[in-house]
Amino acid sequence: MKRLAAFVGLLATAMTSFAQNADSLALRRLSDDIMWNSTCYDNLRVLTKTIGHRLSGSPEADKAVAWGKAAMEAAGADRVWLQPVDVPLWVRGKETLKVQLDGRFQQIPMLSLGNTEGTGGKLLERELVCVADLAAFEQLSAEQVKDKIIFFNYKFRQDLVNTFEGYGDAVKYRWVALNKAAEKLAAGVIIRSVGTGADDAPHTGASRYYDGLPHIPAVAIGNISADRLAAACSRSKCKAQLVSNCSMKGVKRSYNVIGELKGAERPDEFIVVGGHLDSWDVGEGAHDDGAGCVQSIEVLRALKASGEKPRRSIRAVLFMNEENGVKGGYAYADSVKATGEKHIWAMESDAGGFSPRGVGLEMTATLKQKVRSWAPLLEPYGVYDFSQEEGGTDIGPLKKLGVPLAGLLPDSQRYFDLHHSANDVFETVSHRELKLGAFTLTAMVWLADQYL
Ligand SMILES: [Zn+2]
Repeated sequence: MKRLAAFVGLLATAMTSFAQNADSLALRRLSDDIMWNSTCYDNLRVLTKTIGHRLSGSPEADKAVAWGKAAMEAAGADRVWLQPVDVPLWVRGKETLKVQLDGRFQQIPMLSLGNTEGTGGKLLERELVCVADLAAFEQLSAEQVKDKIIFFNYKFRQDLVNTFEGYGDAVKYRWVALNKAAEKLAAGVIIRSVGTGADDAPHTGASRYYDGLPHIPAVAIGNISADRLAAACSRSKCKAQLVSNCSMKGVKRSYNVIGELKGAERPDEFIVVGGHLDSWDVGEGAHDDGAGCVQSIEVLRALKASGEKPRRSIRAVLFMNEENGVKGGYAYADSVKATGEKHIWAMESDAGGFSPRGVGLEMTATLKQKVRSWAPLLEPYGVYDFSQEEGGTDIGPLKKLGVPLAGLLPDSQRYFDLHHSANDVFETVSHRELKLGAFTLTAMVWLADQYL
């Protein structure tokens, strides 16, 4: 009996390694095809250079929807459709900020925070009060804050190696700061941008007003200007002059773009891979999140080109409105709930088109263990980190429906130099890094289809 058990054990090991070998060959074929034949870089060029940035509700976002549909069809999707999504329309308009540096007013680069209200085109000139962080702000009396412009000079933590941790730490200044200041009747807020850059690019991003508080203007300035302004404020009293026109203009009809490859064995079970089609209204939204969109489309192209039909139906979803409302993510989850479609895996790429390093997992411990057993198959591609709890904003609403979520984790060092700024352009994306990310998404979708 012992010998038989040993033999059965050996046989099982041999069969496992045979299966792993077959899997690694299948992934190699997908990788070779993507690295040689992918259309994702060309797709990104068209999206960023012929359409450019595409804030929800803008004419460019409409063009991006039409582009996404055509790109899905060109990738060989069996079916492509548009899912209606009502999105907020926020418009920036003209804006300028002048601050007193060395006694005289100088114009500095700035961006109003998304979803905020500006000065209505009028000049707002007020004394500046500079604080290092929220704790320092709390020390100020109501009198010290009232009718002033508060400059929150909180620095993005450069010491944190994972920049997403730094982002998580600093991003509260984008929405908590203005509400804290509004509570104490400040006239406006300036924040140091939530970005790692060693340049002077301001970074925008979503903000929001808490119920019942005044809608005061809030703007971001770049790291170099923030250093200069903090130094000027420490020397003497400074004033700021802000003129801005941004405002919320109601709601507009837009769409998620969905492309599907029909499954051969279980067409009623779905695997979703996606990114978001909208971007901020500066730069070209190349990394955030043009990259995720073209990589998701590439998953369909590569699987189709492999000649083997997937077992389940595979959907690529280009979500609308991740940046300032997540309406596309909610609309997709609502449709899944309404139709009762069984989703066994949802994955998002929304952390830049940089070299993939890992896959975040937001699912049960048992499932995590299973997914981690695939790690050796991804290691030859530089993808090793399966330790983080991370899905994605657009697929987030699927969590309530019990769908396992995963997120592509690229190298994070350069992302927050560019994110939400004019620097997020096509030229900063490497075609090889972008394709490796597309391969990682494809590999995870392929493995989920085989083994879940
Ligand atoms: Zn994004």
